[in-house]
Formats: sequence, structure tokens, C-alpha cells
Amino acid sequence: MMKNPAQVLQKKPKEGSEKKYDEDYIKYGFSWCGDETAPRPQCIICGDQLSNESMVPSKLKRHLYSSHPSCANKDKQYFKRCLEENKKTEEIYEIGRNSF
Ligand SMILES: [Zn+2]
Repeated sequence: MMKNPAQVLQKKPKEGSEKKYDEDYIKYGFSWCGDETAPRPQCIICGDQLSNESMVPSKLKRHLYSSHPSCANKDKQYFKRCLEENKKTEEIYEIGRNSF
């Protein structure tokens, strides 16, 4: 007989169904984009945007493990660096566009 791991108590959301971004989700390689009241998780590695309903650790983890298995055991610092570098690249593009 196998025990059912799904029998875990789950808290119900207080109001509305929009999920909020948790700073901790960076460890799954996710940042967020869009509206602050209904943010959408955005993969730092491939830039994929998921729906607001996917703003839960299990779904973020699933994307990380299935799409980027080589990054599955990276730590927060690694993803933070990636995020900063993505931002820098965008800035460089902006500067390049303006000066030419
Ligand atoms: Zn991805």
C-alpha cells in the first residue's frame, strides 16, 4: 500500500484568485512581469511567461526541471546574476540604439 502524499492541508486564498510573486521564487529561476496585482511568472533563463495561475512553486519548479534541467540545482545567487545580466543587456541595447 502506498501512502497518498496529496493529503496535505492547504490554505485557501483569502480574497481574489490572483497569486502574488514571492521573492523566494527566484530560486526556481522565475522573476515576474505584467501587472503588480496579478503578476505573471517569467522564466529568467528562456524568458517564457506563464499565466498568473502558474504562480505556485510546483508549476515553477516543473518548468525549471523539464525545460532547464541543467539549472535545476542552481542557487538564488545564480538566478539573481542572470536577472541582472538580462537587465544590463537591455540597457546596452537602449544606449546603442540612441547613439547610432
Ligand atoms: Zn524557461
